[in-house]
Amino acid sequence: MGLLGEFGELLLPRRCAGCGRENVSLCTRCLQLLGGIPRAMEPRYGRIPIVGICEYDSRISRMVVGFKDEGRRDILDPLALALARAVVAALDLVDYAGGRIRLFPAPSSDRARRRRGGSHTVLLARRVAELAPELPLEVHDVLLARRSRDQVGLGAHDRAENVAGTQRLDQRELAKIRPVTSRQGACGPPVAFVVDDFSTTGATLAESARLLASVQIRPAAGVVLGLGRGGTRFVSPFTV
Ligand SMILES: [Zn+2]
Repeated sequence: MGLLGEFGELLLPRRCAGCGRENVSLCTRCLQLLGGIPRAMEPRYGRIPIVGICEYDSRISRMVVGFKDEGRRDILDPLALALARAVVAALDLVDYAGGRIRLFPAPSSDRARRRRGGSHTVLLARRVAELAPELPLEVHDVLLARRSRDQVGLGAHDRAENVAGTQRLDQRELAKIRPVTSRQGACGPPVAFVVDDFSTTGATLAESARLLASVQIRPAAGVVLGLGRGGTRFVSPFTV
């Protein structure tokens, strides 16, 4: 953001990124949404459970859109903290016993990356790692989008069809983590999670997991902020 943008931010009245309430970055009601009890869902698509912090609704949707498309970097930390709690719950779910924790951010299209000045899922995952230094987290930006057909307005079946073949691996980034894969530490093999902002049917995360499995990286779970109701089944709650 340029200097003018920063001054503009100072001059404009701040609004809650979730509900639009004036003079706050996030109001207490919207913060409570991010502070919910993490939960796991068995998605309609894919074999990995998905852990989220709240049920998808218009407020969490607005927060994420504000963060990724409207420059609301002021809510990076609250979103990343919520995601960090979902990561901890996911570790609990997979009976984590130590070892590296690898986060694989879901891909954004090249166009979206250029427009946003980078991938918002990578930014979130990196901030999670910074905010949880006690966890041996690594962020690997290896998932790339092939094309950007929008998922909005598609039914569950169409979504699954729509994501098939939409992702690819960044071989250069992948090469950076391969040596570590074969040299498993004393604490046990690394745990891998795919990270995204939302998951409704699990189709996008399932495609990411399928692609990673093709290079012997097997994500144990998906970790998101908002979980959709459609096509998911409640598995178990967590208290973190
Ligand atoms: Zn609010």
